[in-house]
Amino acid sequence: MEGLMMQQPLLVASLLQHAERHHGTQEIVSRRVEGDIHRYQYRDLARRARRLANALAGLGIAPGERVGTLAWNGYRHLELYFAASGSGAVLHTLNPRLHVEQLAYIIEHAEDRVIFFDLSFLALIQSVAPHVKSPKVFVAMTDREHMPHAHGLPIPLLCHEDLIDLHSDVFEWPALDENTASSLCYTSGTTARPKGVLYSHRSTVLHTYAAALPDSLNCAARDVILPVVPMFHVNAWGLPYIAAMVGAKLVLPGPALDGKSLYELIEAEQVTVSAGVPTVWQGLLAHVEGMAGAFSSMRRTIIGGAPCPTAMTAAFQERHRVDVLHAWGMTELSPVGTVCSFRSHQLSLSTEERYAVQAKQGRPVFGIDMKITGADGEELAWDNAAAGDLLVRGHWVTRHYFRSDEPALQEGWFPTGDVARIDADGFMQITDRSKDVIKSGGEWISSTEIENVAYLHPEVTSAVCIAARHPKWDERPLLLVVKKPDSTLAADELLGFFDNKVAKWCKPDAVVFVETVPLGATGKVLKNQLRDQFSNYYLTGS
Ligand code: ADP
Repeated sequence: MEGLMMQQPLLVASLLQHAERHHGTQEIVSRRVEGDIHRYQYRDLARRARRLANALAGLGIAPGERVGTLAWNGYRHLELYFAASGSGAVLHTLNPRLHVEQLAYIIEHAEDRVIFFDLSFLALIQSVAPHVKSPKVFVAMTDREHMPHAHGLPIPLLCHEDLIDLHSDVFEWPALDENTASSLCYTSGTTARPKGVLYSHRSTVLHTYAAALPDSLNCAARDVILPVVPMFHVNAWGLPYIAAMVGAKLVLPGPALDGKSLYELIEAEQVTVSAGVPTVWQGLLAHVEGMAGAFSSMRRTIIGGAPCPTAMTAAFQERHRVDVLHAWGMTELSPVGTVCSFRSHQLSLSTEERYAVQAKQGRPVFGIDMKITGADGEELAWDNAAAGDLLVRGHWVTRHYFRSDEPALQEGWFPTGDVARIDADGFMQITDRSKDVIKSGGEWISSTEIENVAYLHPEVTSAVCIAARHPKWDERPLLLVVKKPDSTLAADELLGFFDNKVAKWCKPDAVVFVETVPLGATGKVLKNQLRDQFSNYYLTGS
């Protein structure tokens, strides 16, 4: 028998409609690339998003077509989040830290029809433009006064504020099927070629509900939320949607992510919850070091993307009375998978024991299930000892990469490429990674891409790139190379060879010349063995 409840599709636009109607005067504060602070309210956001939706239609963006963005966290980017997805197009957030070639590949693969960009990325757009055919127009996310002249772009360049001014704020958000695609984010995870994760309206709204819960990211109307995690990185962990759903004040830091700028913003806007990768928080903690009574308002900080070191948890909690919420996720999971919130019996543990819990990545929220499996695919016990491949499934987990032939799932489960153990309380802890990538300061570096460049050098016989632990960036690429016999190639020379071939921050920090690389039975390099041997290279120098 069919239930007799209203059938309202779960749509991204409904988050904005709710925020406008029920939290219309709540503030959104942004630090702009122009350097000043901009503030307006949810009702202004809604009005401008409708104008922008009309503008997208005016530009000829058809339902399902991709709208690219190359932008920091700011109100104009937020307007695009709702205007693009809400009108039935697909918001495609591009990562400005990628190399020109990779960006061009992603833009062409996604067939972005238009790209909106922050002024700070004009030079990047100028470098990418000659290599892409899909975009028919670029839009600079600024006003007329700041529009660049003589930009030399091969296609028209429009102005964000002009588009808003020229269009009406009357727009009916279409009643889309909730399974319609809403946004797209590429992950440069495990292969040399980035892969697209295509979220739907339904998965996004369900993720928003779950991520806002008290044992999850714990967000309420009373909160002032500062996503430091970029809006080009898995939708800033869903926080823009969460803020709209709960009616929280949203503070967007623009390009200023150094400790001093973040701290000033946190204090000026009385931020209560912030979110970012450990590397960003190192800068913030260094800035407030020795400051008495720092953080007059901040109560929680969500840390994920890389393991949160206990020293960081202790610094926030003991010195600054800011609770740390350690979380684990992935682009393929929209991204929230697990969050480390205490169960009641853990509250009475000793401080050290509680730190041991907080070093874990946590337990899944409803909507995500997980398991760990052994070498033969058998499920392993939750005994805090057995470590195996971590697999997940749920409402906001990808089932297929965008325009890819590779299957993403194994018997209905998504293999995360992380290796983990689970304790009897259901807390998961990542112990290793089976996927062959380097995660530096929260961003991926493809080891294959580095190896491919090394192989272009005529004096290289074998090249293997591994992730080595790093005190600041969590991990940095280390290149192990077997030289041709009699070669006099020096490490600096080989490192110099990477200039202009990969993004600067992806270049390995060091090269170690080795006699041979260990190979497995099928001729594959045994990277685990090399990781065991060299993973402390940047910590110990050998
Ligand atoms: P995000 O950076 O938002 O987590 P990505 O898709 O870029 O999303 O990266 C996901 C991967 O990052 C995970 O598979 C895992 O390897 C690593 N990761 C994410 N969060 C953590 C964490 N808290 N601890 C350890 N590794 C993490």
